[in-house]
Amino acid sequence: MRFDYLQPKTVEEAISLLSKFDGKAKVIAGGTDLLVQIRNKAIKSERVVDIGSIPGLDYINYDEKRGLSIGALTTIRTLETSSEIQRRYPVICRAASQLGSVAIRNMATIGGNLCNAAPSAENAPALIGLSATCKIVGPGGQRVVPLEEFFIGPGSTVLKKGELLIEIQVPVPLPHTRGAYLKHGIRGTIELAIVGVATILTLAPRARVCRDIRVVLGAVAPIPMRARKAEKVLRGKKIDEALMNEAAEAASREARPITDVRATAEYRREMVGVFTRRAIREALA
Ligand SMILES: Cc1cc2nc3c(=O)[nH]c(=O)nc-3n(C[C@H](O)[C@H](O)[C@H](O)COP(=O)(O)OP(=O)(O)OC[C@H]3O[C@@H](n4cnc5c(N)ncnc54)[C@H](O)[C@@H]3O)c2cc1C
Repeated sequence: MRFDYLQPKTVEEAISLLSKFDGKAKVIAGGTDLLVQIRNKAIKSERVVDIGSIPGLDYINYDEKRGLSIGALTTIRTLETSSEIQRRYPVICRAASQLGSVAIRNMATIGGNLCNAAPSAENAPALIGLSATCKIVGPGGQRVVPLEEFFIGPGSTVLKKGELLIEIQVPVPLPHTRGAYLKHGIRGTIELAIVGVATILTLAPRARVCRDIRVVLGAVAPIPMRARKAEKVLRGKKIDEALMNEAAEAASREARPITDVRATAEYRREMVGVFTRRAIREALA
């Protein structure tokens, strides 16, 4: 497949190229999804706009008030190994470490992982659980969208023609917040998740009561989804084994899995229960 390769030097130039070609140009960042899709003829594109060489989109910043800002071109490997993130949001490092191999993580970007919008996108559940937002720029200016509302369906996001995701923002978590991310894949990290579960748990300072919790599931619905019924089971209660089981069953019922080459819907539903229970236990530990 032949395509024109365009290399803008600024975000503005990239947006103007994307607008000029009116949806007939595709953005490329690390290329680990896009090039596979082009080669497999899953998508056809006459032009590819490489944002990888735009300076200033690859950063990790932390501010005590605003929290964490991650540039869209930050690689998954940088997220995985960032001591700043490990100290303040270890669940983000954990999720990043579960994506593919080191070679893939060295190329793959966080922006690409989210914009590709696979239901199994590794970084989505933990970031949704942490209430992350997406900074988007395009011909109409800038807007900020909660990551939870960013995904529309498999391979589809709220990004409009000419728009780029440029930053992911993660607020400062409440005190006593901890998280877990577990991926279930038969061949470990090297394949896409059959099920991914993130739990972000905030405990009340005393008595280990669950002040708030997010349970977010990957690969078991058209988009990464919150298991709100499971969250409701736990919120405001002191978590014990019985409650964990109840929440796991609720998550399992809420999931909307499909059967595909990696697993049947029934197996996925069963594993949602198993991995939700484990992820709650790990966040509590
Ligand atoms: C062997 C292998 C194993 C993999 N394992 C996993 C895995 O375990 N878990 C997982 O989640 N993924 C996995 N992937 C998929 C892929 O590596 C990730 O989704 C990766 O993060 C994509 O990032 P990228 O920068 O390479 O995206 P690209 O391929 O460059 O782009 C992906 C999509 O996002 C769009 N895009 C990219 N950046 C932007 C932006 N800033 N604004 C707007 N649109 C943008 C592109 O147009 C394209 O549609 C694997 C891929 C391979 C080849």
